[in-house]
Amino acid sequence: SKVPSVTLNNGVTMPQLGFGVWQVPDDEAATAVSTALEAGYRSIDTAAIYENERGTGRALASSGIPREELFVTTKLWNSEQGHDSALRAFDASLEKLGLDYVDLYLIHWPVPSKDAYVDTYRAFEKIQADGRAKAIGVSNFLPEHLERLIAETSVVPAVNQIELHPQLAQAASREAHARHGIATEAWSPLGQGRGLLEVPAIVAVARKHDRTPAQVVLRWHLQLGNVVIPKSVTPSRIRENIDVFDFELDAEDLAAIAALDEGRRLGPDPAVFDAGA
Ligand code: NAD
Repeated sequence: SKVPSVTLNNGVTMPQLGFGVWQVPDDEAATAVSTALEAGYRSIDTAAIYENERGTGRALASSGIPREELFVTTKLWNSEQGHDSALRAFDASLEKLGLDYVDLYLIHWPVPSKDAYVDTYRAFEKIQADGRAKAIGVSNFLPEHLERLIAETSVVPAVNQIELHPQLAQAASREAHARHGIATEAWSPLGQGRGLLEVPAIVAVARKHDRTPAQVVLRWHLQLGNVVIPKSVTPSRIRENIDVFDFELDAEDLAAIAALDEGRRLGPDPAVFDAGA
């Protein structure tokens, strides 16, 4: 399966579909990431707080895949926000991953109550200028946080990684991203496998195309232009989730899925979430 790329606002290309490793323990991450790389994934999404950067890095190293063909994302945890602490946390992540650069470094949450994301991002700008991150961006930023960041710093984030799935379609954020040339990356693209994949409208579209509900949901994201990072530790599902580039949803399918938007989050509200801070 050939995964298309999106071109970020600084010219870096990123696979439109990657592999997420939240909740995969470090000692299982190497196996899961190796399975994903064998299945054709080249983009891996981890974070310092996932505590599996070492296992992820081991799988990358043992794959034998040239570094320039991989796209590795990691994220700065809330406790490390601030200029100097961000620089130190970045060094620690690189060391654990066993890499000398990452492709994308993200601020994991804005933590508005801490009021440190602007200083944090200035450190990210240095990291990018030094070539140690090919692109920098954010995660869980609301449009108001993006506006402030863009007004007060000089590098427009390449990516905003947000909770996004058919029941939380995030129209306002996607519109803000489009206005600023920020790529939208969907976390929990399958709604964490909690119910979404049994919704009758999704099941009906899946039957129509002789595909699985997960494949239909991933196709919906791709046709919207989202970057997606589905997670699974089950080899057959890891393969199923990347096997989505040989069929297309039609306008009727897309409309049926669009009707599922309830604006309901599975995860925390970025306006108030401050774990670890
Ligand atoms: P997801 O939407 O990818 O769902 C994963 C779950 O769905 C699996 O654990 C499994 O139960 C089920 N599943 C996966 N493939 C399936 C298939 N083919 N058929 C049936 N069920 C299937 O959820 P996620 O892990 O929360 O999100 C994906 C990635 O997004 C994470 O691993 C992580 O990398 C990233 N993420 C980022 C943030 C953030 O704050 N930036 C938050 C959550 C997740």
